[in-house]
Amino acid sequence: PSALRVEGLGLQIGGATILEDVDLDVPAGSLVGVIGPNGAGKTTLFNVLSGIARPTAGRVLMDGEDITRLSVPQRARAGLGRTFQTSSLFPRLSVLENVRLAAQVTRGGSYSLLRFPRRSDAATATAREKLALVGLEHKLDTAAGDISHGDKRKLEIAVLLATDASIVLLDEPMAGVGSGDVPGLVDTIRRMQSETGATVLMVEHHIDVLMGLVDRVAVMYSGSIIAYDTPQRIMENPTVQSAYLGSAA
Ligand code: ADP
Ligand code: MG
Ligand code: MG
Repeated sequence: PSALRVEGLGLQIGGATILEDVDLDVPAGSLVGVIGPNGAGKTTLFNVLSGIARPTAGRVLMDGEDITRLSVPQRARAGLGRTFQTSSLFPRLSVLENVRLAAQVTRGGSYSLLRFPRRSDAATATAREKLALVGLEHKLDTAAGDISHGDKRKLEIAVLLATDASIVLLDEPMAGVGSGDVPGLVDTIRRMQSETGATVLMVEHHIDVLMGLVDRVAVMYSGSIIAYDTPQRIMENPTVQSAYLGSAA
């Protein structure tokens, strides 16, 4: 079955329609981009998928199971992980400690930061493996607050991988990242996806960043998905051009 499937999803808040009849089918192991203008409902969709917001209509299926009623931690345990538009790292902890903490919490062990674990323990080994995957193996002892925006995004991905997430939701991972660091981050996301086989949904304003990276693009506009297709066909779609990309496309 699909890794993630959304059927007839709707969300109304105080009489305002935030999401309306959203359908989305994400095949296992695929990389899907979500684009759309500011306020289109992209983050709200991620909030519903991760369980932070409850939909007023429709349902969410993970690996064929209805997870619409599950809590945030229940979904996380089932393997659904996300990053936020604002960084959720511990800035005073080192790069290695941030990932090791996620690995320790996931494995249900104690996670005292006062008692510095031996570098050979299982959580540390997991953390080192995930950090190598995102290309941060040279910054293990640097404080998370002192690395570049691009490296912070890579670190957030390593944290997610350390929780054994099989579905990864990335909300604007390129936000605040210098343009010179974008290709490296795109490369990290591609490598992370191919080496873990994770299913990835990624919100990104700029379709050019998604070209050559994602399998399909979902276009959100005013609370609905108005197109879902390959990046190339999305670029050529007249409905998308008039609704979102404008004459610049
Ligand atoms: P995007 O991520 O695409 O920029 P959002 O999902 O953040 O869009 O927001 C979609 C719309 O829903 C916006 O108009 C926003 O103001 C509104 N919205 C989001 N959350 C709430 C909320 N808790 N209460 C009221 N309106 C909200
Ligand atoms: Mg926004
Ligand atoms: Mg958003």
